[in-house]
Amino acid sequence: MSIDPGHNGANAQHISEIDRLVWIGNGTKACNTVGTSTDAGYPEHAFNWDVATRVVAKLRAAGATVVLTRPNDSGWGPCIDQRAAIANGAHAAAAVSIHADGGPSGGRGFHVIEPALIPGLNAANIAPSARLGSALRDAVRAGSSFPTSTYAGSNGIVVSSIYGGLNLAKVPAVFIECANMRNATDAALLVQPAVRDRLASAIVAGIAAYLAG
Ligand code: ZN
Repeated sequence: MSIDPGHNGANAQHISEIDRLVWIGNGTKACNTVGTSTDAGYPEHAFNWDVATRVVAKLRAAGATVVLTRPNDSGWGPCIDQRAAIANGAHAAAAVSIHADGGPSGGRGFHVIEPALIPGLNAANIAPSARLGSALRDAVRAGSSFPTSTYAGSNGIVVSSIYGGLNLAKVPAVFIECANMRNATDAALLVQPAVRDRLASAIVAGIAAYLAG
């Protein structure tokens, strides 16, 4: 398993480094970005790190072998192409990138992002990633404090080719935007450790459901 906490705690102090363009399979994109935050200043990188480390602990407790794409929340990067390479190099059974969105303040909820077909690049990875995405969507809808998104995608699913981490994946891969940090209701929930722990358990349940086929 590969778990990828989006962004990193010192990205904001390394703008020139993270602005470097990297190839993402169908064009170029910045190596990394700073991410969003709640209105009160809880940063997305910290939320992602907290949820990801809870997911990793639960997966390892269940006997899974897990790689994390960054070792802490105090560095910068790695670039998005490198995050995909970590999952590919580990031959991960599934790769999940954990984020929270900076969406419209009136919109709530989570959505899962699945890779779109890029001819010649990722055809073999589309169907397994879609199965992983559906399993994750079902589990997070059932077991977290967040509804499926009221503003993005359809039924909690977005299919996209703008993410390097998905385009370059050779293993089943999805992103989850766990909540909308710009929405007051979601923000009041996601700052609570118990809410993040419940979310992490739901993510683990989704991964387990996918692996069980
Ligand atoms: Zn993000």
